[in-house]
Amino acid sequence: MHANVALKMEDEDTEAESVTVLLVDDQPVIGLIVRKMLSSDANIVFHECNDAIAAIEQARACRPTVILQDLDMPGANGLDLVMAYRSIPELRNIPIIVLSSNDEPAMKKAAFAIGANDYLVKLPEPIELMARVRYHSRSYMALLQRDNAYRALHESQTKLRQSNMELQRLTNSDGLTGLANRRYFDTHIARAWTTSRQDASVLSLLMIDVDYFKLYNDTFGHLAGDDALQRVARAVQAAMVEPMSLAARFGGEEFAVVLPLIGADEACVVAERVRRSVEALNIPHPSVAGVGVTVSIGVATMTATAATRSTDLIAAADARLYCAKYDGRNRVVGAD
Ligand code: GH3
Ligand code: MG
Ligand code: MG
Repeated sequence: MHANVALKMEDEDTEAESVTVLLVDDQPVIGLIVRKMLSSDANIVFHECNDAIAAIEQARACRPTVILQDLDMPGANGLDLVMAYRSIPELRNIPIIVLSSNDEPAMKKAAFAIGANDYLVKLPEPIELMARVRYHSRSYMALLQRDNAYRALHESQTKLRQSNMELQRLTNSDGLTGLANRRYFDTHIARAWTTSRQDASVLSLLMIDVDYFKLYNDTFGHLAGDDALQRVARAVQAAMVEPMSLAARFGGEEFAVVLPLIGADEACVVAERVRRSVEALNIPHPSVAGVGVTVSIGVATMTATAATRSTDLIAAADARLYCAKYDGRNRVVGAD
């Protein structure tokens, strides 16, 4: 066997074998004897508590992998202590071996009924005590390892889910404005189109274009242009109160808004709200004194059929956007 492999296996064995025993017994002599019995194994760490009142605190502090519990102690009933360990989350699963001079079946039955894992009559053979301590400790360590593995798995699944969601958000959103990007718009309008056809429901689309934006860029520079686009995008988004609406950056200084179940008249009202919101930003523009950055909007409404496609809706809104430009800009055109 390769030396590294041998070393690693030895490590794992040592870890699996590491045993911490807490003996809770009022008689110090029992502590002495049990300590001696277990002392032949260097992997066993031994703790002792002679005071029942202090047992819980000591168990919390020394984190035993096995508790050896006396039943008959002054100041406390050992069975009550067993129940107390079971009621504390961090001690709940620690194996408890009752170590009692009482060998009546009724007492054994009572101890098992409240959650003891094992029962040894004082004083057991060293070999038997050692074997049971090792057995219970090992199964407890296996339980802890399994719980840790589940926890780690759960954590990594949560992280993976979060990064997938973040990735999806990044894939679908426009880097400059944070609105849905063109890719997402294409998928979304295709889906909305299918729904419109299935339900014979209306679907409206706004095509929005910033007026004289080349001049804005040429005057103030590209960075100021980016800033203005971000502000326009925020205004478009803020003007959306329709629950199923989607505002997207269509490309360059053009935005698109998909409005399922919204008819022509209502779509024009939405478009007018967008136009006014952008105008109200009062972003200074070099074209005409006193008029800020504005947008022109084309509005189209259709109900999808077998003979039409979503590109027809886009083309119709685009044609009206062109009309809005031709008519003087900063306006909404919703009819031919
Ligand atoms: P019109 O009113 O007819 O729409 O005039 P316009 O100047 O807006 O139209 P044109 O299509 O000639 O110019 C669009 C400009 O938008 C040109 C381009 O530099 C600018 N633009 C497109 N995308 C961006 C961008 O991401 N950032 C900035 N700063 N400018 C952009
Ligand atoms: Mg344009
Ligand atoms: Mg433009």
